Amino acid sequence: MNHIKKDTEKVEELNIGPIIVSACLLGISCVYDGSSNKNKQILELIEKHLLIPVCPEQLGGLSTPRDPQDIIRGSGEDVLQGKAKVVTINGNDVTENFKKGALEVLEVAKLNKVKIVIFKENSPSCGVHFIYNVKQNQRFKTSGKGVTTALLLENNLRILSEKELEENSLIDLV
Ligand code: SF4
Repeated sequence: MNHIKKDTEKVEELNIGPIIVSACLLGISCVYDGSSNKNKQILELIEKHLLIPVCPEQLGGLSTPRDPQDIIRGSGEDVLQGKAKVVTINGNDVTENFKKGALEVLEVAKLNKVKIVIFKENSPSCGVHFIYNVKQNQRFKTSGKGVTTALLLENNLRILSEKELEENSLIDLV
């Protein structure tokens, strides 16, 4: 039995189903500056899985290109609880766009009975383990989840980052 056949059987056995993926990882140019974060390893998953690209920031009504934005004094959970805001580099409050984007992605997940999500690390929407934070006008990387990640976790989805997939196979992580 070759490896692909073996993996396909394992995938069926585990009933992974469709996977939501940060659209920028699949080569869609939806990053704030109009670029993508195309990731060859994540793209290869398309051979064995149905991948659903989403960009929470675009789904929340923000344009591309757009100003870069960060969560101020908090993480995705804090934003959902109204304790923190998401603000652009020019000081515009885009918190409501981020909440709307998260809700839209949750809707896509429900419609498609999605259980697994692969998101881009470090993003204020999609960050899984790390985000950037701003305190006293200083931007720094810190532990924390993006807004959409926090909402999907509250709804019991399994979220993996592209970094985890670079070191492990999907089958070993789910
Ligand atoms: Fe990529 Fe997520 Fe940022 Fe959209 S919101 S560009 S999908 S990391």
